[in-house]
Amino acid sequence: AAKSNGGGNHRFFAIEMEDAAQERRSLELDLREAIALDQFQLHYQPLVDLHTGRVTTCEALLRWTHPVRGNIPPAVFIPVAEETGLIIALGEWALNRACADASSWPREVRVAVNLSPVQFRDEGLGLQVVAALAKSGLSAQRLELEVTERLLLEDNDNTLDTMHQLHALGVSLSLDDFGTGYSSLNYLRKFPFQKIKIDRSFITDLGDGRDARAIIGAVASLGAGLDKTVVAEGIETEEQMNLVRSQGCHEGQGYLFGKPMPADDIRSRLDKPIIAIRRVA
Ligand code: C2E
Ligand code: MG
Ligand code: MG
Ligand code: MG
Repeated sequence: AAKSNGGGNHRFFAIEMEDAAQERRSLELDLREAIALDQFQLHYQPLVDLHTGRVTTCEALLRWTHPVRGNIPPAVFIPVAEETGLIIALGEWALNRACADASSWPREVRVAVNLSPVQFRDEGLGLQVVAALAKSGLSAQRLELEVTERLLLEDNDNTLDTMHQLHALGVSLSLDDFGTGYSSLNYLRKFPFQKIKIDRSFITDLGDGRDARAIIGAVASLGAGLDKTVVAEGIETEEQMNLVRSQGCHEGQGYLFGKPMPADDIRSRLDKPIIAIRRVA
């Protein structure tokens, strides 16, 4: 089609681009008001100890219910929030909400909050974390902050300083989506991560052959050697759960254990194991 009518296509493409730009602008305007209008919610998804079946941590995931468009996924609005700087206020809201919710959970259950690199580079982050802990009364040991490899690519000195500051507060750091970016073994040595979350794509690929299995096994033993907790993301079947456990992963997360759910629902599921672990010899 591109060959047969280049001019027409070009015009069509220009209109599409204009639509996309307009769409983005309207999203941005709506995003600016969304916090004040109370359109955000946090859902929580459990991370489960693969030996006991108990929930160790609940990860907070943002949900935006747009009055006209309905649910807009984070993959759509987070990038806009990052480009406009709105992620600073939105991230602060999420941090406060998550700490407040977690303060009513059993003491052994932690909460994980995702942080954008934009938030990480903001000078106010340390104070935001201190304030969220103080307001909620949550102890710092119960807060985990998740960042991706995207953060580690640039600005290493400031990033490392901020991480050490957070670490000194007692907060722990997790490396999210491990294996999708420029995964470097050096990251694991240089930055103070307590948890490594192996990206869902490796768990999805477990079915087809030995490659994914070998990678998961290697990351799990590396993590164990470095005293880090290794988590497998995106576990949807019992078979995947058994495989990642046999490869040495400590924790799992995924639809098998529970989809992200509202605060009231997760609260009621934290008192007993979320799944029965059958001992396989
Ligand atoms: P993430 O932090 O890696 O979160 C895991 C994502 O995988 C979530 O998508 C979750 O719903 C999905 N997931 C979990 N288990 C399964 C499974 O078994 N199968 C499948 N197919 N999917 C599963 P969600 O909620 O759409 O979030 C997407 C991403 O948006 C997150 O990836 C995170 O990077 C970002 N995000 C979400 N909330 C926040 C936030 O509060 N702040 C920031 N900065 N980013 C956020
Ligand atoms: Mg995450
Ligand atoms: Mg993740
Ligand atoms: Mg992921």
